[in-house]
Amino acid sequence: MVDTHCHLNFHVFDKDVDEVAKRAFDAGVRIVVNTGTSIPSSRKAVELAHKFDSPAGEMYAIVGVHPHNADKADREFEGEIQSNWFEEITKLAHDEKVIGIGETGLDYHYYESNGIVDKKLQKDAFRKQIELSIELKLPLQIHNRQAGEDVVSILSEYRTKFQDPPGMFHCFAGTFDVLQDALEMGFYIGFDGNITYKGIAKGETVELSELAKSTPLDRLLVETDAPFLTPMPFRGRRNEPKNVIIVGQYLANLKSVSFSEFATIVDNNVRRVFKKINA
Ligand SMILES: [Zn+2]
Ligand SMILES: [Zn+2]
Repeated sequence: MVDTHCHLNFHVFDKDVDEVAKRAFDAGVRIVVNTGTSIPSSRKAVELAHKFDSPAGEMYAIVGVHPHNADKADREFEGEIQSNWFEEITKLAHDEKVIGIGETGLDYHYYESNGIVDKKLQKDAFRKQIELSIELKLPLQIHNRQAGEDVVSILSEYRTKFQDPPGMFHCFAGTFDVLQDALEMGFYIGFDGNITYKGIAKGETVELSELAKSTPLDRLLVETDAPFLTPMPFRGRRNEPKNVIIVGQYLANLKSVSFSEFATIVDNNVRRVFKKINA
């Protein structure tokens, strides 16, 4: 299995990333993809990708600026001034172990800690990263929270220029319409441990399980978003990539296929989206 989106590049893993990686590889997660949300975390994701680079278990990186951080350009953040963020991401994106651009997109959810970042800044950062993904022929890893219509409308402006496939929506949530539009544009759809939670998350209207049922098996991807979204029954603890197997088992069950069949199909999906991953 592949964890196509997590954050071992975050400080919460500084002390024990080696053990966390070993637990994932021992559990059968052969590839872990760390996604950046800022310049420092993107850089750290690239560092980890070079550090963990053996056939028994390896890491890759996706680099980008999260919509939460779209207003942090030219300001101090995580210990450094984020000036020239676009040039920095472009530089990092040329690394051999960088397989995609993200996480980028739009987030209209109100967070206590962050509020809602100016939508114009979010859209500007999103457009720039879409253009970079097209220029470098790297797939996009999209973050969308309660902004589905705007995400789809911006993506559709670039429709004729996209590579095939153009990338994935990570941690999918939203309406059946947004799901349909994303699938029609060729995107793959990632689900996380929150699919094991009961009920519908605040601000959403459709249960994640229903969205996963409507996603064709050959377009599905599995991720953890660790340290967040720990699946049941471990909710409340720090999440880690080995738990992608729990998410996979849940989805296999939902799709009425055996876990091994599911894992083979999803691993093939990963290779179609992320062509720089060594099969
Ligand atoms: Zn995200
Ligand atoms: Zn994430």
